[in-house]
Amino acid sequence: MQKLSLKTYPEKILREKLKNINKVTEKERKILKEMLALMQATGGIGLAANQAGVDKRLFVVDLQDGYGPLFVINPKIVKKEGTVETQEGCLSVPGAVIKVKRAERVVVEGLNIEGEPIKIEADGLLAKAFQHEIDHLNGKLIIDYLKLPAKLKIISQLKKNKKNAAKIDINKEL
Ligand code: ZN
Repeated sequence: MQKLSLKTYPEKILREKLKNINKVTEKERKILKEMLALMQATGGIGLAANQAGVDKRLFVVDLQDGYGPLFVINPKIVKKEGTVETQEGCLSVPGAVIKVKRAERVVVEGLNIEGEPIKIEADGLLAKAFQHEIDHLNGKLIIDYLKLPAKLKIISQLKKNKKNAAKIDINKEL
């Protein structure tokens, strides 16, 4: 398998709604572990498959609170309670910090890395991370929570940054 790399806006896979997988195999386990390594290398606390260029409905979250990484396959929010609005950043939208309204508590069902059914009740940062990663799997980004003028402004900035980053890379190659 090709080594995974971080995808940033406006790469198309970030806008794809990913489908559930039928069976959890060694392949998915390998992808999840590589995603964890990529997430750690980039300093994130969560990473959805499309952020790593992978077309599968799964994500990893590690709040670095001593509980270790959580791998969730075919995640689905089955219960939401309360609302809370906080600032969020995203590895795929570098530099942007955006106010996002989320449910305060969620219950997420899915499969673990062994393919066994799991049900996780989350609040606080974990609830926020779950909703953020599931948004990714549905092709949704934090910029979509902005109203239009602010969204267009940040999109043009992101595209400019990306162009400059590409230029720098080419220079490095030379
Ligand atoms: Zn993100």
